Amino acid sequence: MSPDPEAGANTDLWDRCHLWHPYTSTRNPLPTYKVASAKGCEIVLADGTRLIDGMASWWCVIHGYSNSRLDAAAAAQMARMSHVMFGGLTHEPAIELGKTLLAMAPPKMDCIFYADSGSVAVEVALKMALQAAVSLSGDSSRTDFATIRGGYHGDTWNAMSVCDPVTGMHSMFGSALPVRFFAPRPVSRFDGEWNADDAVALEALFAGHASSMAGFIIEPVVQGAGGMWFYHPEYLRTLRRLCDRYGVLLIFDEIATGFWRTGKCFAWEHAGVEPDIMCIGKGLTAGYMTMSAVIATREVADAIADSEAGVMMHGPTFMANPLACAIALESARMLAENDMPARIAHIADGLEKGLSPARCLPQVADVRVLGAIGVVEMARSVDVGEFQKHCIEKGVWIRPFGRNVYIMPPYVISDAQLQRLCEGLVEIISDERNY
Ligand SMILES: *Cc1c(COP(=O)(O)O)cnc(C)c1O
Repeated sequence: MSPDPEAGANTDLWDRCHLWHPYTSTRNPLPTYKVASAKGCEIVLADGTRLIDGMASWWCVIHGYSNSRLDAAAAAQMARMSHVMFGGLTHEPAIELGKTLLAMAPPKMDCIFYADSGSVAVEVALKMALQAAVSLSGDSSRTDFATIRGGYHGDTWNAMSVCDPVTGMHSMFGSALPVRFFAPRPVSRFDGEWNADDAVALEALFAGHASSMAGFIIEPVVQGAGGMWFYHPEYLRTLRRLCDRYGVLLIFDEIATGFWRTGKCFAWEHAGVEPDIMCIGKGLTAGYMTMSAVIATREVADAIADSEAGVMMHGPTFMANPLACAIALESARMLAENDMPARIAHIADGLEKGLSPARCLPQVADVRVLGAIGVVEMARSVDVGEFQKHCIEKGVWIRPFGRNVYIMPPYVISDAQLQRLCEGLVEIISDERNY
């Protein structure tokens, strides 16, 4: 059966037949909309339709599209060199970015590994933890990992294994995926009372399995693609105490939460406890290039140096790509020049005001805002294709998943644009014919 060319007016037939988009079928794909250009917080479609961007292209376009400073940084670096191997060679962009990232990272962080994408950063973090844990404990059976339910850590093999076992891809890949230990998703809300049951479940997991665990990986405070859930910072303090008591390395996956998205430079600051290893990505290059990094304490780096291999066993082709480093460095400078706490608080206010009318709708289960993340959790699953058709009519770009409809705009969004986004979202979900 060939795809129906009439199914989506804006859809390119060749694209429909030959290109895989994320999690889609080649036979019956959801409609896609062709983009001609994007500037600031606006995406311009090929037919001239202008959309206000509420997604920051999956958390990463923090300074908006076609930013003149980032464009200039990229052009200047390209004139010098776009790429050079990192094996045996080094360069100024990698060094300067490293210094800048360590200054932003938790105080104990001391060494950086540059990687290609968020998923690869998670793979590297798990390998790092395993090498370090075996070396620190002298116990070669400390190779397991634990996490909590409802998480998302990427699409590669080991990253998948620590995603939520039900909503993730565990059932599809079956016994080929390593089996991990899962604690329940914390029930204590970020802005609510701390419920000690959350600690009890975590303690039970450590008491039962810590002796075989190398590390515990978790998204601090905000679970992103696994359900847009904001949990209580006390959970991370409990986790840190347990990791210390049982000699388990703590990995914070800050790929979605990093670079001010939650109102802090990194989300660990909400809890005040540091990880041993931290993954960053997404906002790192402000959406210009694919790049991520894994940052570790000196203790972890030393343990790997003392391990049997004596080295960190990873080295991607595009490691520390100079073009990506130069752009990431410029992006970090732009963040440093701005009063980011005030900017994010202002966006949070706008989201709170704009989304609060949704609270009283019977089809809405919950509305929550943290930093520059506004979530409307519906009582039932949302039809993405249908929802996006309404978005295009209203001139906004929002892509729901599951029961969550959320706004996560670029930080440069204007008050009027943010208001339009929230109004558009509320109008679509208010329409009884849609829900
Ligand atoms: C997006 C994401 C990843 C995966 O990053 P990719 O660049 O898509 O590979 C990992 N962890 C978290 C928390 C993420 O949000």
